[in-house]
Amino acid sequence: MTTKFLLAEADLPTHWYNVVADLPNPPPPPMGPDGKPVGLDALAAIFPPGLIEQEVSAERWIAIPEEVREILRLWRPTPLHRAHRLEAALGTPAHIYYKNESVSPAGSHKPNTSIPQAYYNRIVGVKRLATETGAGQWGCSLALAGRLLGLEVRVYMVKVSYQQKPYRRSMMQTWGAEVFASPTTLTNAGRQILEKHPDTPGSLGIAISEAVEEAAGRADTNYALGSVLNHVMLHQTVIGLETRKQMELAGDYPDMVFASCGGGSNFAGIAFPFFADKAAGSNVRLVAVEPTSCPTLTKGVYAYDYGDATGLTPLLKMHTLGHDFVPPGIHAGGLRYHGASPLVSQLVHEGLVEAMAIPQLETFEAGVLFSRTEGIVPAPESTHAIAATLRAARECTRTGEAKTLLFNLSGHGHFDMSSYDRYFAGELQDYEYPTEAIRESLSHLPKIA
Ligand SMILES: *Cc1c(COP(=O)(O)O)cnc(C)c1O
Repeated sequence: MTTKFLLAEADLPTHWYNVVADLPNPPPPPMGPDGKPVGLDALAAIFPPGLIEQEVSAERWIAIPEEVREILRLWRPTPLHRAHRLEAALGTPAHIYYKNESVSPAGSHKPNTSIPQAYYNRIVGVKRLATETGAGQWGCSLALAGRLLGLEVRVYMVKVSYQQKPYRRSMMQTWGAEVFASPTTLTNAGRQILEKHPDTPGSLGIAISEAVEEAAGRADTNYALGSVLNHVMLHQTVIGLETRKQMELAGDYPDMVFASCGGGSNFAGIAFPFFADKAAGSNVRLVAVEPTSCPTLTKGVYAYDYGDATGLTPLLKMHTLGHDFVPPGIHAGGLRYHGASPLVSQLVHEGLVEAMAIPQLETFEAGVLFSRTEGIVPAPESTHAIAATLRAARECTRTGEAKTLLFNLSGHGHFDMSSYDRYFAGELQDYEYPTEAIRESLSHLPKIA
């Protein structure tokens, strides 16, 4: 009975997989408010050429630079686990596997992209990176990458998370980054929001506005985004490429693949390489799991919208709740984003990827069961994937089917213990679907000329 399926360092992928090569339709391009596709020069103000190339590439395979692979080898390949104890606790005939992305130094999948992003900036002489962070996972990942590749990092951290997760801030500072609670008074975007909503808990959309404004205004500084964009989805495919080999070692193949979805990158990371199989005829089902309080894929509209709260970014065709939607302060901070990856959105829109939403209490219940059987305390974001897997496993118990279920354990919850405390104290709630707030923010979608 094998518990972990391990690859050698030599098995670390040499290329990223670009899902665009297998899409039935070409992705709609980013647009300006004038309704014209944005020129690549507009992106060049905040991104380096290597990443812009990847952003628009349709090449199926893109080589991973050797220096990036060397750093990824600090923790990759990551283990694939068979969750024998969880299966036993559920009494399910299902086979449950999880890919363990919690073993990175930052504790999540995010360094898979922060490292190459810092690399492509450094090779063109960029000295500083500005970014936003929700729960702090991305800020930590970029702080780590900046340290390992020799760039300064400044992080705008969503205020509610800054207060809930002080040790994430400490961790970023340990790696040498500067951290501010967003909105700040350092940027026009921050000052504008504070004037209207002095008590705002902040949001990823607002923090993105601040970081983009800083990067656009300084020649030595670029912007780095932890999710949503095509190049981020690309970098994360190391997860699924490894997992496909590991499932082969296990002599099994998933019927369903689950991952939590904030901006879509850990989902894309595990699911896109399996989408390549699906495009070639496999029946594998790919399921993105989001919170009911921020239901971008299940209740949002598929439309052009801004990536940030104040409208500084190009318009992306994606599922969105409206760029000025501020989600309730749920504890899965990394899933509080109004939009989603254009690639993931397109696949959901075309019916090739499924989406579901799960309420907060069910996700914590799933996280506790997972901790008590498999041992690892999962990040509140990851518990969404676990809860969805549990639903499918319990369905197998009812029907007697022995399905193979795979989920992405996107991170551990060691910096989220105050959220677990509040769950145990009975202080967490399920938020109603914020119908009114979403209707209001959707009425502000940009009208394209
Ligand atoms: C950031 C984060 C997520 C959500 O972001 P995606 O881009 O959708 O992957 C999920 N899990 C963890 C642990 C995270 O840090």
